[in-house]
Amino acid sequence: MARRKLVYEGKAKILYEGPEPGTLVQYFKDDATAGNGEKRDTIDGKGALNNRLSEYFMTGLGTIGVPTHFIKRLNMREQLIRAVEIIPLEVVVRNVAAGSICERLGIEEGTPMPRPIVEFYLKNDDLNDPIVSEEHIIAFGWAAQQDLDDMVSLALRVNDFLSGLMLGVGIKLVDFKIEIGRVWDNEFMRLIVADEISPDSCRLWDIETNRKLDKDVFRRDLGDLADAYTEVARRLGVMPQGPSGVSRPTLIN
Ligand code: UDP
Repeated sequence: MARRKLVYEGKAKILYEGPEPGTLVQYFKDDATAGNGEKRDTIDGKGALNNRLSEYFMTGLGTIGVPTHFIKRLNMREQLIRAVEIIPLEVVVRNVAAGSICERLGIEEGTPMPRPIVEFYLKNDDLNDPIVSEEHIIAFGWAAQQDLDDMVSLALRVNDFLSGLMLGVGIKLVDFKIEIGRVWDNEFMRLIVADEISPDSCRLWDIETNRKLDKDVFRRDLGDLADAYTEVARRLGVMPQGPSGVSRPTLIN
């Protein structure tokens, strides 16, 4: 088979040219990095789990009318996606304080937010993805006011959907990051959810025990990352189990 053309290689994923114009193949690597690439390792199975989980979340979002780049899963590690023009901002939604907000504002980890908080970070590894305000975004032209309004509304819809989904399987959605891209349908530009949604880009805590089931397991050396991600996939019923294919979600009463 002819090698596909590589379009972009990031820390955890590779993008190849897709079979048709306007499409890309997104390949999920087993590589894990933290601290902007300072800590790195290869975690067997992580790529396949994130491919499956991102498919599951994006498909669900599509079902409730939130547009995403996901078209279909191709195999264990690859999915077909719509090519988008990525907006150079990471959109973070927080329900509970953890990570950078604790350091920045001195809030204790685990403190519930009075309401979901939406933050923007500039995608720039050289600058360590600094937090930016809406003023910065508009003044420097990274997005327009209308884009920002649409991004906040998309992010909050993703938050409601994912929070509910996770609650059903006994997991608290502490925070997450999404990336958003522009697509054009004829003359009309619209924003859709792109990149990935997986335990690499969310904080997920067991509701009962607060056990961390996300990339903090790797960031803080708390155990086996693949075990944590497998637990999320198992609870959601997206782990292939035996010849019948897919198991059922574990609903918590
Ligand atoms: N996040 C991410 N990629 C980044 C930075 C953050 O996926 O480059 C996710 C992170 O996993 C967490 C949320 O965004 O779910 C908020 O991250 P935070 O700002 O607390 O940054 P951290 O201290 O985790 O780098």
